[in-house]
Amino acid sequence: SRIPRIVILGAGYGGIVTALRLQKELNYNEADVTLVNKHDYHYITTHLHMPAAGTDHPENARVDISKLIDEFKIDFVKSTVIEIRPQDRKVILEDGTLSYDYLVVGLGGEPETFGIPGLKEYAMNIRSINSVRLIREHIEYQFAQFKRDSSRPELLTFVVGGAGFTGIEFVGELADRVPELCREFDVDPKLVKIYNIEAAPTAMPGFDPELVQYAISVLEKKGVIFKLATAIKECTPDGVVLATGEEIKSGTVVWTGGIRGNRLLEEAGFETMRGRIKVDKTLRSTQFDNVFVIGDCSLIFNEEGRPYPPTAQIAMQQGVTCAHNLTAAIRGEPMKEFKPQIKGTVASLGKGEAIGIVGKYKLKGATAAFMKKIIDMRYLYIIGGIPLVLRKGRL
Ligand code: FAD
Ligand code: NAD
Repeated sequence: SRIPRIVILGAGYGGIVTALRLQKELNYNEADVTLVNKHDYHYITTHLHMPAAGTDHPENARVDISKLIDEFKIDFVKSTVIEIRPQDRKVILEDGTLSYDYLVVGLGGEPETFGIPGLKEYAMNIRSINSVRLIREHIEYQFAQFKRDSSRPELLTFVVGGAGFTGIEFVGELADRVPELCREFDVDPKLVKIYNIEAAPTAMPGFDPELVQYAISVLEKKGVIFKLATAIKECTPDGVVLATGEEIKSGTVVWTGGIRGNRLLEEAGFETMRGRIKVDKTLRSTQFDNVFVIGDCSLIFNEEGRPYPPTAQIAMQQGVTCAHNLTAAIRGEPMKEFKPQIKGTVASLGKGEAIGIVGKYKLKGATAAFMKKIIDMRYLYIIGGIPLVLRKGRL
């Protein structure tokens, strides 16, 4: 009989782990595996706040896919998916078509703008290597422009919309970068303003209040101005308008107000909530049992029926279960249920500072910052072994 075809869409945290595990678990000629990704590199999303602010080089946040997978076992296709047709078991790429027996959707998330006018047009996002290069260059350009026209203080005002983990990690880096930029461009640091604007009454809503307070005080000391319980209601070419009616003039708006699943999924006719597909315990779509959905595109619930937040931690664990279940499906063996194991959450606040909960321990300061480095290096080790830790690890 014909060899089953597995197509994996997206080489992010979920997709790359699925591919690596399949390459290990499947025997020779047991399945044809194809991995499709927009770029020929995998990006380490959890590092992106650093190159976005310019405290690290974008090159350090990406790895060539050919260095991670065994191309004798997995076909890599560099292309952009433009349509998924689950009824026909086909995927339409910008430059071709793929047929599959089993599909893994790991296309990641997209910025959620909640329909707020102007965000799509005038705000930038921390999502990919290309998007963070733009932010980094844009920030430097603001400083350069200011030196030509010092009557425009808004060039030195930076607005970050949303104080979730992404917003907090980014303002921590940006506050570290500003003194360097001020030296480089001969700018008085007093003229630079970084606003982090959050709709909820607290930053990092839902996280441990004591740690959140610690984070705010560290970041305020570095010069970040928080506006809590203040929603952004519009973004314009001149800055943002707040729900209070107040306007903040700014040449730079970075939107970190949340993410949703990939739009291709709703366009394909899957039932979605904010673009995410609710999957069964084996990580399959409830509509098409040959379609697995992992990472930020998938929606899974805890025992109390609340959705898990989309994280790299869960995406990777789903990759392991997904590869196991694909192998089981091909061999006609029983599948495993996915049970997330939340080891903890650690968020960086810039150089040498972080907060986090790991197991039952609350961490802050240098201990938390060290833990964050360990977690990041552990990921590099999982996907690329010691050589990758040595090349891309940051201590
Ligand atoms: P992604 O990693 O986003 O990968 C999706 C892949 O699909 C990408 O390679 C993309 O190029 C590709 N793709 C997308 N569309 C197409 C298309 N149409 N055609 C072809 N390819 C396509 N989570 C944590 O657990 N811990 C952290 O410390 C942490 N830090 C973070 C820091 C930042 C700054 C950000 C932004 C997020 C952070 N997260 C963290 C969240 C985490 O990054 C995501 O949950 C995780 O990346 C989701 O993995 P994924 O596999 O679903 O998608
Ligand atoms: P998020 O949804 O967690 O946070 C978005 C924030 O923006 C929320 O606090 C929300 O109240 C706020 N917001 C929404 N609309 C707003 C408005 N109109 N005006 C002002 N504020 C508004 O999104 P995120 O921070 O990008 O995180 C996405 C996922 O990635 C989460 O699951 C997070 O846990 C994960 N992540 C984890 C880490 C880490 O573990 N270190 C780092 C980054 C991201």
